[in-house]
Amino acid sequence: MQEMEITTNNTSQVIKDLLEEFYTTSAMTMGYPVAKDFDYTELLPLLKFPLNNVGDPFIPSTYTVGSREQEKEVISFFSHLFRAEEDNWWGYVTNGGSEGNLYGLYLARELYPKAIVYYSEATHYSVQKNLHLLNMPNIAIRSQASGEIDYEDLEKTISINRQMPVIILANVGTTMTEARDDVGKMKAIFKHMAIQHHYIHVDGALSGSYAAFLEPRPAFDFADGADSIAISGHKFFGSPIPCGMVIAKKNHRDRIARSIDYIGSLDTTISGSRNGHTPLFLWYTISKLGIEGLKKRTHDCLAVAAYAEKKLKQIEPLVWRNPDTLTVNIPKPGEALLKKWQLASGKEWAHIICMPGMQKAQIDEFVKDLELHRAIEHVV
Ligand SMILES: *Cc1c(COP(=O)(O)O)cnc(C)c1O
Repeated sequence: MQEMEITTNNTSQVIKDLLEEFYTTSAMTMGYPVAKDFDYTELLPLLKFPLNNVGDPFIPSTYTVGSREQEKEVISFFSHLFRAEEDNWWGYVTNGGSEGNLYGLYLARELYPKAIVYYSEATHYSVQKNLHLLNMPNIAIRSQASGEIDYEDLEKTISINRQMPVIILANVGTTMTEARDDVGKMKAIFKHMAIQHHYIHVDGALSGSYAAFLEPRPAFDFADGADSIAISGHKFFGSPIPCGMVIAKKNHRDRIARSIDYIGSLDTTISGSRNGHTPLFLWYTISKLGIEGLKKRTHDCLAVAAYAEKKLKQIEPLVWRNPDTLTVNIPKPGEALLKKWQLASGKEWAHIICMPGMQKAQIDEFVKDLELHRAIEHVV
């Protein structure tokens, strides 16, 4: 067996090499939804401490080295932004969007153990796994060409199982095309069919984090009918460590709360020990930017996305974009280009996502490259 060698005299070289590698690779990523414009240098001294927000953020723990206060501020900020009912909101900073979805579905199952879960075929891959882990019966619903759920198919499928409680996982927006399901239309279906027991969890990974700054405002939040909302922190806001948030109605989470003597807090979260640094990144961004700054961040990205769409359409007329989104869909280019620009792709389509930190100059470079590759492909 070959031994891995870690010696003290080469660690600084390895770090230097990694740094160089990250400068190159992160400059070339266009297809994945990560903000790259953050600067958390001011928080660096806090890396010296073993932060741990173990347990429920709203119940103090016996372990006090952590960032509970900032985590609560972050949750409070988003609860208000997502128009939660006064005094009926709760949440925590997760390890990412997938954990938030797992949590939302878990709450839904505890409320309605006999329910069926409905979600569109454009749903993120983590949801299938979560449903499997939770052992919840589920049915996939057709998507429209845009990626938005097909409401007719949803209503028809619910009507077949009308006696069962309904849980819907709504996408705001989908991973591939950033299509947003309309929570208002889902509520209308419940009303129309007199469904009494229902729950809507919103997977808002990327789009949910800036949807509140759009006009018209998409129907996606608590006032529109959501019971819980999960978003990612490392996507639109930016974080060197993957993270996210889940916000739920407090009365839902009260159903699962259990008191644990060992930590002196409530065991209401998926993991026991929880990251104490990631809430600080989110808190820092929110404090520095405020609502106005986040609005500007949204509209700056939308402007770059509109620019990318226009430029790309000039060389490829099939290019398209859902209204008010950062994702520009392009017919799947060749392997070389996918790899070079780190583009996520499906069978026929790929996309670029105009995240904070992306410049128009970068779009120009990409367009030039795409044109070049197409010319070569045509010759071959
Ligand atoms: C990114 C994403 C997720 C998963 O988020 P992670 O933070 O990677 O766990 C879930 N749903 C959608 C729609 C996403 O785009």
